Amino acid sequence: MMAVAFLGLGNMGGPMAANLVKAGEKVLGYDPVPEAAASAAEAGVSIVDSPAAAVAEAQVVLTMLPSGKHVLDLYRDIVALAQPDTLFLDCSTIEVADARAAAELAVAAGHQAVDAPVSGGVVGAAAGTLTFMVGGRSEAFIAAEPYLHRMGAKFVHCGDSGAGQAAKICNNMILGVSMIAVSEAFALGQALGLTDQALFDVASTASGQCWALTTNCPVPGPVPASPANRGYQGGFASGLMLKDLRLSQAAAEAADVRTALGKHATDRYAEFVAEDGPGRDFSAIVTTLRENGTA
Ligand code: NAD
Repeated sequence: MMAVAFLGLGNMGGPMAANLVKAGEKVLGYDPVPEAAASAAEAGVSIVDSPAAAVAEAQVVLTMLPSGKHVLDLYRDIVALAQPDTLFLDCSTIEVADARAAAELAVAAGHQAVDAPVSGGVVGAAAGTLTFMVGGRSEAFIAAEPYLHRMGAKFVHCGDSGAGQAAKICNNMILGVSMIAVSEAFALGQALGLTDQALFDVASTASGQCWALTTNCPVPGPVPASPANRGYQGGFASGLMLKDLRLSQAAAEAADVRTALGKHATDRYAEFVAEDGPGRDFSAIVTTLRENGTA
């Protein structure tokens, strides 16, 4: 039985690899951090001692890594070691240009490649309900689908190489901007004497409604499941939001597109992360807006 090589068994990769094991795949995993490797081993992943050892027997190479540099460095090391026509499936969130460069490396070595960044966070990774935004040729997308199906609930083929990353950063730019807009509205509403519930009851059923308000409401109360009700723990970390906003701005600069609100959101999240640290849910930005009225 050919295996799936899974490189990067961190917060996201660990549970994604576990879901492949649950679906009956033989998964050969590698991560340089012993704790990450050990917890994947508990979920049934066979841990090997190098990326090369994982790739040699695999028909699919999955990566879930921190940055484009990690992905490119690794691809440079392993594309020549893989079996011919291996599917390289990178699920990391990285720059569009890096995703295209990674796919070119894989294709030039005789393989198929897709970028397939995800939305759904650690909870979606564990539950197998991730959404994948996929970039690559149609044949590669079709080859990737069964594996994506085992780790997620929804897949959109967005176009050629890099299109998955493009969709991901455009979506998250909307999210960063809309979270600031919703947070400013709660700050202004409070100053004008509105209760949070009254503003929510109107805006959530009127033209102000959006995911940042109705699912991830930044103030405690109106949406009991939102991270605001648990001290902003366990959501989408503001450090990751900042990473994605920076990727959107790098892409906007490269494409010579003016994204003024995206830039503003990037600056605000950079300030917020510098003050608050990267760990709390990104909706915690409302706390600074209410304290000093900036943004
Ligand atoms: P993480 O830091 O928990 O995991 C990354 C893992 O990659 C680490 O365990 C690290 O040791 C490992 N690694 C580094 N170099 C490696 C190499 N050469 N070979 C094998 N493993 C290597 O990060 P994460 O939260 O799992 O995020 C991974 C990617 O998913 C990032 O690109 C992130 O932006 C994206 N993402 C994260 C979330 C989330 O909620 N955490 C949501 C969507 C997308």
